[in-house]
Amino acid sequence: MPHSRVTVYERGKRPLAKVAITGGGRCNLTNSFEGIPSVETAYPRGARLMKRLLKEFSHKDAFEWFENAGVKLTIQEDNCVFPVSQDAMEIVNTLLSLMHKHGVVIRTQQKVTKIATGRNEGYDVFTIDKEGKTNTESYNVVVVTTGGSPKISGLDMIQDLGFDIVTPVPSLFSLCLKNNPITELTGTVVENVTSSIVGTKIKAEGPLLITHWGLSGPSILKLSSYGARYLQECDYKTNIAINWFHKDNEASVCEQLTSLALNNQHKQLQNVYPQRFNSRLWSYLLHCSGLNPMLRWAELGRKGQNKLVATLTNQQFVIDGKNRFKEEFVTCGGVALGNINPSTLESKKYPGLYFAGEVLDVDAITGGFNLQAAWTMAFVVAKSCIK
Ligand SMILES: Cc1cc2nc3c(=O)[nH]c(=O)nc-3n(C[C@H](O)[C@H](O)[C@H](O)COP(=O)(O)OP(=O)(O)OC[C@H]3O[C@@H](n4cnc5c(N)ncnc54)[C@H](O)[C@@H]3O)c2cc1C
Repeated sequence: MPHSRVTVYERGKRPLAKVAITGGGRCNLTNSFEGIPSVETAYPRGARLMKRLLKEFSHKDAFEWFENAGVKLTIQEDNCVFPVSQDAMEIVNTLLSLMHKHGVVIRTQQKVTKIATGRNEGYDVFTIDKEGKTNTESYNVVVVTTGGSPKISGLDMIQDLGFDIVTPVPSLFSLCLKNNPITELTGTVVENVTSSIVGTKIKAEGPLLITHWGLSGPSILKLSSYGARYLQECDYKTNIAINWFHKDNEASVCEQLTSLALNNQHKQLQNVYPQRFNSRLWSYLLHCSGLNPMLRWAELGRKGQNKLVATLTNQQFVIDGKNRFKEEFVTCGGVALGNINPSTLESKKYPGLYFAGEVLDVDAITGGFNLQAAWTMAFVVAKSCIK
């Protein structure tokens, strides 16, 4: 649409400021989707919509789009995609220079306060600048891309239009523990565990990181995403269980310990342990199982082994609050998907009014899926506007 007038209103000083800080300043802009068994796994909210939209503009399309725009990309071993430069500013500058080239006007420090149906066809966009000066402009088409906001006030601008809103709550956080000595093992990573919220079916797999406030790492972040609403409802006070042996059940762990005991009968428990642990974490786990670390493997006995197996496969932790993960939060909730046409992202009630990105009730686990949702939706909306 080379002849159309496109204006972006940004309340902040700099456009794309959020993109600049993504992925710790490196911008994890998408994911290869290898190892993602289903779209549902990546998008706890909005999977059905994303499944449909990804057919229009997939992670491969995003990859190609950025490479065509001159950004060399690399796929990490964990399937996350980053610019080779490892610099999020390359993404920001590429987008800004393309906008500049195509005549998109960016108005920074202009907060949109209200979007209303105009007198003629189209919409009036009300703004206020940093000096408090207000302005109103009319447009045929308006796309709301105001991102996530854990506070409902972030959606005040569309309040009068009567959209259904799914109450926003935070997602992607680590979990705090109260007075648990495991926090002394800060920095310890266990490659693959299963974490679950006790009393629910909510569970997640992946590496676990012990921090000085509690538990973090991909497994916990995923758990916080899958359980975002449940955890908010219980005020982030609940019990979680860790299976330190990933998917292995009690019988399998029992077998592994029996074999370890047979091969190391005269060695002390503290000196021989499964490879997935370091010695400090192993000592902690022995302590939690009420076992003397100086005991020899031959002396463990059935009772001792059962206690150890119970700790290793189902250790419970009392959660007392949440914490930010590298300042990364996304919003679960937002404009309800029932308000929009799933093929175009246009409002069902207001033709020419679109939504894209985290403002919608769509959010993902970490790994580049949230930005992929933003690119995909932007593409779909743009295509629909052209039509
Ligand atoms: C620290 C951090 C790191 C992250 N890292 C990653 C990552 O590596 N990979 C990934 O996939 N996802 C990451 N995410 C999530 C990802 O950044 C977001 O999901 C994504 O940016 C959402 O894009 P969006 O365009 O919908 O909203 P945003 O990028 O949030 O953009 C919305 C913009 O609208 C502006 N705005 C809001 N209200 C108004 C208003 N009333 N008037 C005018 N302007 C307004 C805001 O200032 C903002 O600039 C990260 C998030 C955070 C917080």
